[in-house]
Amino acid sequence: MAEANTGDRMEKIVSLCKRRGFIFQSSEIYGGINGFWDYGPLGTELKRNIRDYWWHTMTRQREDVAGLDATIIMHPQIWKASGHVDTFSDPMVDCKTCKGRFRADQTAEIPCPQKPSKMVSACHGEKTAPRAFNLMFQTCVGPVQDDSAIAYLRPETAQAIFAQFKNILETSRQKVPFGIAQVGKAFRNEVTPRNFTFRSREFEQMELEFFIRPDEAVEAIAGHLASAADIGQCQTALGNDQTDWGWEAWHKYWVEERIRFYESIGLPRQTLVEYWQKPEELAHYARATVDILYKFPFSKRDAQGELMGEELEGIAARSDFDLSQHQRSSGKSMTVFDEELKAAWPKLEPAKQAELKERYYQNRLQYLSKTGEAPDKAEKLAREDAEALTKGYYLPHVIEPSAGADRLALALICNAYSEDQAPDEKGKLETRVVLRFHPRIAPIKVAVFPLLKNKPELVKKAREVRDLLRPWMNVFYDEAGAIGRRYRRQDEIGTPFGVTIDFDTLGEKGPELKDTVTLRDRDTMQQERVKISELLPLLLGRIR
Ligand code: ATP
Repeated sequence: MAEANTGDRMEKIVSLCKRRGFIFQSSEIYGGINGFWDYGPLGTELKRNIRDYWWHTMTRQREDVAGLDATIIMHPQIWKASGHVDTFSDPMVDCKTCKGRFRADQTAEIPCPQKPSKMVSACHGEKTAPRAFNLMFQTCVGPVQDDSAIAYLRPETAQAIFAQFKNILETSRQKVPFGIAQVGKAFRNEVTPRNFTFRSREFEQMELEFFIRPDEAVEAIAGHLASAADIGQCQTALGNDQTDWGWEAWHKYWVEERIRFYESIGLPRQTLVEYWQKPEELAHYARATVDILYKFPFSKRDAQGELMGEELEGIAARSDFDLSQHQRSSGKSMTVFDEELKAAWPKLEPAKQAELKERYYQNRLQYLSKTGEAPDKAEKLAREDAEALTKGYYLPHVIEPSAGADRLALALICNAYSEDQAPDEKGKLETRVVLRFHPRIAPIKVAVFPLLKNKPELVKKAREVRDLLRPWMNVFYDEAGAIGRRYRRQDEIGTPFGVTIDFDTLGEKGPELKDTVTLRDRDTMQQERVKISELLPLLLGRIR
């Protein structure tokens, strides 16, 4: 449904989030702290469901991904090697009139000081020249507060994965291609946090680093490289032969997998945009990056009036940059030994061997030169790397799908929010607010109601039904108020199913309805009569 006023829609969503306990301003009793948000009881459940479902899909449902839970504060050298100390910055300007600070590329609109979820025009005063502002939060480790104690709150979870790559490889019995997944907090001192939780200073990421063979190793083993076009839309990694997949195929595969993930929790494909970064937008080490955007109500519109979308996730083909950087910076080898490559190499034609070796050499040389190695040394190291390839050793390349849990929670809330007309107690139509969450991520799966609270038999039976379901799903039990109003309260927080225990359940209208309940669907408002003995498998089938 096209919204006439997306600003109004966003205001309604922000107010619902506060009113019903999804999201609160952090430290609200002290006036709040810009860029920090707390999740209330329902928001906590929603985010937990997002994380759990991501984890389930990305690790437990697969054989080729292992997990990690690393610390937020790590050795500061990690951030030097990754490039964050030197280059993780936004251009910042000061306004000489209002003394405000803005991102140089975002001076037209800023969050309203009174209402940060709303954007207002920025001051037109003269601005200073842009300066780089590093987004990492600094802290000191230990009692002495000097330069040697400086550490950072991680601005992304990914670097810990690279730093622990060897430990995980050695302990998990995985071999390339395989991935390492991590979910956790990240911190960025954003110059202008904006759009509710969309750009926060503390947030959560869900990241996968999927390590693959360099193309030269794939070609040596498989004899050729699958083109990205060969990777059909319907293919999944499980059960397919991926031996000839190079970085392009793996990248395309992950873009498709991630879009399917969003679809499976209720974000239709038409609400998403698959944005392929242009060559001039790519980081110097990235071969390709696709951003998956969601069309938020606050997204800008294109010339046709279509919402353009804001980033939910980036899927980058990062070559062997990260492991190379940590290898050079730590002095610890990050190479892997690949039995299949070792076995395949001697069987190649000499001309093919020379071609693959030369290509690998050129790639390594390019990396080493770009990252500041002196020409002589770069050549020597690249020659050694190319020689090692012929014996089965290489630095894995990586595909990185990196998503934000808070942005996804916000997208799911925005997408779920709807208003329709439904009859009230007296049959008169009224506006009904419904969060149409996919049952998989809905904070509460089912609400259980005794029809009347002053009838002990109904209450007893309803509590029995609640206790039957509770070990399996998040159940809300409510006996207060008229049944219609109880349904509305659940509609507004997105509970997909309501179960009512009435006099039929007790067998008062005849034995055939005894021990049956009414099951109401949030979206259609249809009610069906279900045997209590069949309720659990039926609901489990609908919420998973
Ligand atoms: P943006 O361009 O919007 O600043 P980014 O490209 O810097 O995002 P990445 O570094 O690729 O973001 O981080 C991966 C994911 O982490 C993003 O797609 C997003 O979902 C999430 N994320 C990044 N920064 C923030 C933030 N300030 N608040 C909430 N989520 C964030």
